[in-house]
This record gives sequence, structure tokens and C-alpha cells, in this order.
Amino acid sequence: MPDTIQTKLAVLGGGPGGYAAAFLAADRGIATALIDAGAKPGGTCLHVGCIPSKALLHVAHVIHGAHDVAQFGVTYAEPKIDLPTFRAKQFKIVDTMATHLLELCKRRDVKHIAGRGTFVDANTILVENGPQVRFEHAIIASGSSPTKIPAFEIGSPHIWDSTAALKLESIPKSLLVVGGGYIGLELGTVYAALGSSVTVVELTPSLLPGVDPDLVQPLRDRLKNEFANIYLSTKVAKLAEAKGGIQVTLEGDVPEKQMTFEKVLVAVGRRPNSANFGLDKIGVAVDAKGFIQVNEQRRTSLPHIFAIGDVAGEPMLAHKAAHEGKLAAQIVAGETSLVWEPRAVPAVVFTDPEIAWCGLTETEAKKQGREVKVGKFRWGASGRAATLGRSDGVSKILVDPKTDMILGIGLAGPGAGELIAEGVVAIELGATAKDLALCIHPHPTLTETISEAAETLHGLASHFVVLKKKVV
Ligand code: FAD
Ligand code: NAD
Repeated sequence: MPDTIQTKLAVLGGGPGGYAAAFLAADRGIATALIDAGAKPGGTCLHVGCIPSKALLHVAHVIHGAHDVAQFGVTYAEPKIDLPTFRAKQFKIVDTMATHLLELCKRRDVKHIAGRGTFVDANTILVENGPQVRFEHAIIASGSSPTKIPAFEIGSPHIWDSTAALKLESIPKSLLVVGGGYIGLELGTVYAALGSSVTVVELTPSLLPGVDPDLVQPLRDRLKNEFANIYLSTKVAKLAEAKGGIQVTLEGDVPEKQMTFEKVLVAVGRRPNSANFGLDKIGVAVDAKGFIQVNEQRRTSLPHIFAIGDVAGEPMLAHKAAHEGKLAAQIVAGETSLVWEPRAVPAVVFTDPEIAWCGLTETEAKKQGREVKVGKFRWGASGRAATLGRSDGVSKILVDPKTDMILGIGLAGPGAGELIAEGVVAIELGATAKDLALCIHPHPTLTETISEAAETLHGLASHFVVLKKKVV
């Protein structure tokens, strides 16, 4: 018989959603167990997602920076890459953070249980090779996994998913990336910077489908030089083991229908982890895509069980998971009037240039038939962008035409991922474009591109000309 642990709250899944929930609950004095299949908490984001990928992207950006500075007359030799050192540094970054999370569990008195959990009834989770945990409330934070295309499952070590690509086992001479979304473009950027010849195949007519085209354009322009080929509206029909890698059969407007690549990275989306741990047995409802159905408080069809993060719906982003986790923990702690109501969940694609947006996008506004006014500032007129040799960015602001309230912000350019936080604050605090225009931004910085975008809407921009009739 397994040991029995009695607790008020059981959190299943120790990613950014699960550990944020467990920590906050413990801080509110709730007896909490955190069950995670991994040896140390952190989930996808820390172990095989956000953090290792951003460590690789940091190096890619440094390599790009070294190339870009040639326009100032400074040149470096081609980089030498010592893969074992690179891997060791990446591992150390992740392991230090994961160890710190374990330490935070101890300090908060959160009972960390390593092992896969399965619901055996609506108040009990049985942990594989571990105890059974009896709980009053549970928060499911089981995350997501890479989508698999059955035809590509030929068991070849030359076919990677994101986890395999992050291992940095080798730098392939040629890499085919299937999927021009977040992962395909971020990891494609990494391998191209490290020296691989990267080809991207994307099913839809654009990279990053759904993202405003004017934000994607600067990235597309740059990737044309970084990547060997980008094939849009193209489908990979077949992957087969071949001498020297994988033979790929393509369907679409491509020069060759069959090509061979040393490695293939499949990055065609992620699926919620909602199967095979007893949800059907206890009656937690799951939708057709596998997301656990939740209400505005993140309660499932069983009101004492919550679901948060990737398993509870889009967007599948770490910060959204963490905020949902904290919301659920506060509700368990007695703040029962709270609901999920953010107006601006930011999204960042950490390519070069970075693309970031929050709130309403122009694409969504069009879909909804909603009228918006758009203030746009191209970085060609930014002093700071000029000093960086990076005038290829754009900042835009979407406002309600009647009230001037900021509804959305979109950015493309180096550092866009940091800059977007200003947009989140502006939208959440109910600022108008005029408010933003009147806030003095430091010069010369890229933050000015956001205030100039707001200024264009009020005739206040210095570096944007509205052609008027001549006044005599
Ligand atoms: P997860 O982080 O997936 O954690 C779920 C945990 O639950 C895992 O540890 C899993 O093992 C465990 N688990 C599942 N089932 C069970 C079970 N039955 N018993 C016990 N444990 C279980 N997002 C960003 O915001 N920014 C980024 O830069 C970013 N980069 C990414 C890069 C890559 C390559 C990938 C793959 C993802 C990236 N993401 C990024 C997405 C981000 O990782 C996820 O949105 C985030 O991890 C979701 O958090 P979560 O807590 O919902 O689940
Ligand atoms: P994605 O949804 O971002 O992109 C998948 C792409 O693959 C889409 O463009 C889609 O049209 C394309 N596609 C689908 N089937 C295809 C096929 N058969 N052939 C060619 N293309 C095909 O998914 P992803 O890149 O796998 O990332 C998964 C999720 O992880 C993201 O949606 C995001 O939520 C999260 N993520 C976030 C970050 C970040 O925040 N910076 C980074 C990585 C991942």
C-alpha cells in the first residue's frame, strides 16, 4: 500500500503555472503538495522550453551583433563554437534555476513529490512509485507536448522535436524546419546563426500566421538573408530515412519536390497534456482539442478542481500560466470573487528582430469588424535605432477611435520583447494614446518609438510628417 499524504491543495504539474500556484497557496498558509513528473520543478518552460531556447538565442543574437557591427567598420573572425562548453553552460543555467525552485519549495513548506500522478478519484492522486495524495482542492497544471504528425513518426534520430533540437547534439549542415511558428523561427534562428543552412516550410501563406503582417515583414526581410529558403503554402508530404539524413517530399510551389536534409525539426504546434491521468475517470470535461474546460475562475467541471496554463487553453505562454496559477491559488485561499480578466497578455517571438504584441491586434480587429485607429512609427526615424544600425523595426498602437483608449500595441525590432511591457501597463491601467504621448520617454531610446506612435495620433510627433496645405 502506498503512503497517504493528506493536504488541502494538490498541484499536479510543476511548470511555471503549477509552481507559481503552489508557492502562492503556501504563502497564504495552505498545506500544499506539488506533484511533478520531473526530478526538479520547472516544467517545459525551464527544462525544455523558454529558458534553454533563450540561452541559445542569446548566443545567436551576439553572433548577429558581431556581423551587424561590420557596417561601423568593425569586423570579427567567424565564431568558433565549442559545443560541449555551450551545452554545459546551457545545462548550468537550467539546473541552477531548477535547484533554486526546489529550495523555494523547502523554504515554503511545499511538499514536492517527484513522479507521475493519476487521479484515482475526485479527491485522490496516486503518484507512480510514490504516495497517494488526498486533497480538498487540486490545480491541474500538466502543460503541453509537441504535436506529432503520425506520418513523420518513422523513429529516425535525424527527426527532431524542440526538445531534441535544444540538446545541441550537433550543428547540422542542413536543417529543414517544418512549421514557421514560434519554435520553428526561434530555433531556426539559432541553428542558422551557428552555421546550419536552414530551410523553413510553412503550411499557411505567411510566417507566424495570425500575427499582424506589418510586424512579420521586418523579420521576413531579415530571415531571407539568414535562411537558405522559406517555402510558404507548402506541405511536407513525406519524410524518409536516406543516406546523409532525411529525404523530404514537398507539396507546393517549390523548385524541387524532393530534397535531403541532415536533420528535420518538426515544430507544428503543441497539444495539451490532458490524457492518461484519470481525468475521464473523475469526470473533468475536456474539449475537442484536448484542453480542459474551465470557467472564468479556472474551475473545471468539478468546482474544487482548477486547471491552468497550457492544458487550460491558448495562449500557451509561461506568463499566462503563472498568472492563472496565482489566480487559482488565491481563490483556493478564500478570495472567491476573483476572475480571470486580463486585457493584455503579451506575446513575444524572440527572433531577430523580435516581434511582440499585447491586447488587440489589427488582425483580430478586422476579424471582429471592430473599428480602430492605428498610430504607426517606423524605426527608420528613430535616433536610437539608427545608432544601433537597426532601423528595420516598427511600433504601432491601436486605439478606440471614440475614446482614444489604447486597445493594443505591436512592435517589431531588437528588444521588442522588453519594450512590450510598457504596452501591457498602459492597457491594463486604462491609458489613452494622449496619456502615453504626454509621458516623457528618455532619449535616445527605443521606448520613444512607442510614444511617437501615440504622438502620431495627436499631431504631436516630431519625426513623422503629416503633409498639410501650405499656410501663408
Ligand atoms: P508546463 O511547463 O508544460 O509544465 C507541466 C508539468 O507538468 C511538466 O513538468 C510535466 O512533466 C508535468 N506533468 C504533466 N502531466 C503530469 C502528471 N500526470 N503527473 C505529474 N506531472 C505531470 N513561453 C513563453 O512564455 N516564453 C517563451 O519564451 C517560451 N519559449 C518556449 C520555447 C519552447 C522550445 C517551448 C517548447 C515552449 C516555450 N514556451 C514559451 C511555452 C511555455 O514553455 C509554456 O507555455 C509553459 O511551460 C506552460 O506552463 P505550464 O505550467 O502550463 O506547463
Ligand atoms: P505554432 O503554433 O507557433 O506554430 C506552428 C506552425 O506550424 C504554424 O505556423 C502552422 O501553420 C505550421 N504548421 C502546422 N502544420 C504544419 C505542417 N504539416 N507543415 C508545415 N507547417 C505546419 O507552434 P510551435 O512553433 O510548435 O510552438 C508551440 C507553442 O509554444 C506556441 O504556439 C507558443 O504558445 C509556445 N511557444 C512560445 C514561445 C515564446 O513565447 N517565445 C516560444 C516557443 C513556443
